[in-house]
Amino acid sequence: MMDKELKNRKDCMGCHACVNICPKNCISMEADEEGFLYPTVDYSLCIKCNKCIKVCPIINRIEVDNKPIAYSCINNNETIRLDSSSGGIFTLVAEKVISVGGVVFGAGFNDKFELEHRFVETKERLWQLRGSKYVQSKMGNSYEQVKKFLDLKRKVLFTGTPCQIAGLRSYLGKSYTNLLTIDIICHGVPSPEVWRKYVEFRESEAGSPAQRIAFRRKDEGWKRYSVSFLFKNNTEYRQNLRKDLYMRAFLKDVCLRPSCYDCKFKGINRQSDITLADFLGIQNMLPEMDDDKGTSLIFVNSQNGQSVFNEIKDRISYQEVDMQEAVKYNSAAIKSSKYNLKRDGFMEEKDILLFDKLVKKYCTDKLSIRVKRKIKAILIKIGLLGIVKRAFGKKTQNSG
Ligand SMILES: Cc1cc2nc3c(=O)[nH]c(=O)nc-3n(C[C@H](O)[C@H](O)[C@H](O)COP(=O)(O)OP(=O)(O)OC[C@H]3O[C@@H](n4cnc5c(N)ncnc54)[C@H](O)[C@@H]3O)c2cc1C
Ligand code: SF4
Ligand code: SF4
Ligand code: SF4
Repeated sequence: MMDKELKNRKDCMGCHACVNICPKNCISMEADEEGFLYPTVDYSLCIKCNKCIKVCPIINRIEVDNKPIAYSCINNNETIRLDSSSGGIFTLVAEKVISVGGVVFGAGFNDKFELEHRFVETKERLWQLRGSKYVQSKMGNSYEQVKKFLDLKRKVLFTGTPCQIAGLRSYLGKSYTNLLTIDIICHGVPSPEVWRKYVEFRESEAGSPAQRIAFRRKDEGWKRYSVSFLFKNNTEYRQNLRKDLYMRAFLKDVCLRPSCYDCKFKGINRQSDITLADFLGIQNMLPEMDDDKGTSLIFVNSQNGQSVFNEIKDRISYQEVDMQEAVKYNSAAIKSSKYNLKRDGFMEEKDILLFDKLVKKYCTDKLSIRVKRKIKAILIKIGLLGIVKRAFGKKTQNSG
């Protein structure tokens, strides 16, 4: 079965397509010691139909050959934009789908702050899906639910990482005119277990359970976004992305899913209709579209994607941009995150050390890097960073 068929178990990106397709419900997803879910087959129930092997997007790879068009975009509704991770385009598309009686699938927290895929049918509930959450979302039986809505002729917007879109497409096995898919440029997804430990750490520091968590508050600007926890005792924790312990571990690549270090879904030709991302490098490419409140880079990948883009055009500011130039600034579009040699140590000690000690031990930069960062901060402050970067020709950035 597919748990034996996959040449390298590490390639499994946990999409749940095999679980959703199994006619005997004999595949379950179980967490390994790092906290990532992998399929396990109950062979006493298996009828050897091979559906799980045929559906796995890793075993059956699809080559995509389309002609995506890249745009820089900003949602003209500033409240939504400030509440979103980049330019607030997800909410606009989702609202369009809901306005015609459609259903929107995406990643939202449950009441224990575990991330899972779920669907929303009203505009009022879209906040549950809005905003990036930097942890792997559990797919559950979402693909089955998507199919039910599609067969009922409801319009469906499904959003997720590129591998989750591949899992859905493979599960459905045919195209539906009432399906629209959005993926993201994806840095990789951290372990749900590491995330749980961080939530516990913050709650213990605050002496109170969390009631709302946001990864990307833009109070200090979009480029220096902060992580925020609101606790039930009315206190708040807020820290910028470079100092927040969890974001340091995420951006240092010490807690990503193994499949993310050799991602099979990179590139500019994608299975989704639309791709959303942060427009990194906007200050160099199109400074007139950079007010530090969030600008999206979007790829329109299909005719379906183009139709939706045409429908939201009057509610956004946008400009077509050169795709190759845009991805030079956003390496995660085309390249996997680099395996950090400290990852194994981090994962082995995650249950032993307190979160702050763990991050200090495995994610502290060398002195030379800390000095470089200090110089960069000073250059930003005095407005000379752009000039220095142009002089040295440095382009690639990393985001979450
Ligand atoms: C794990 C992760 C890594 C990312 N890495 C990069 C990167 O390297 N470079 C880059 O330019 N952009 C990256 N992004 C995308 C970026 O952060 C924004 O999500 C994107 O630009 C959309 O922004 P928005 O303002 O249009 O909408 P928002 O409202 O901010 O986007 C919300 C959408 O993201 C989906 N989503 C949120 N969390 C998850 C999750 N864990 N898994 C699956 N879907 C999720 C929601 O379902 C919803 O569709 C990443 C996002 C995530 C979740
Ligand atoms: S072979 Fe068929 S029954 Fe057996 S685990 Fe795979 S899908 Fe399920
Ligand atoms: S279908 Fe998805 S979850 Fe199942 S083995 Fe393949 S990659 Fe892993
Ligand atoms: S980096 Fe690739 S494998 Fe990892 S979550 Fe993103 S799309 Fe999936």
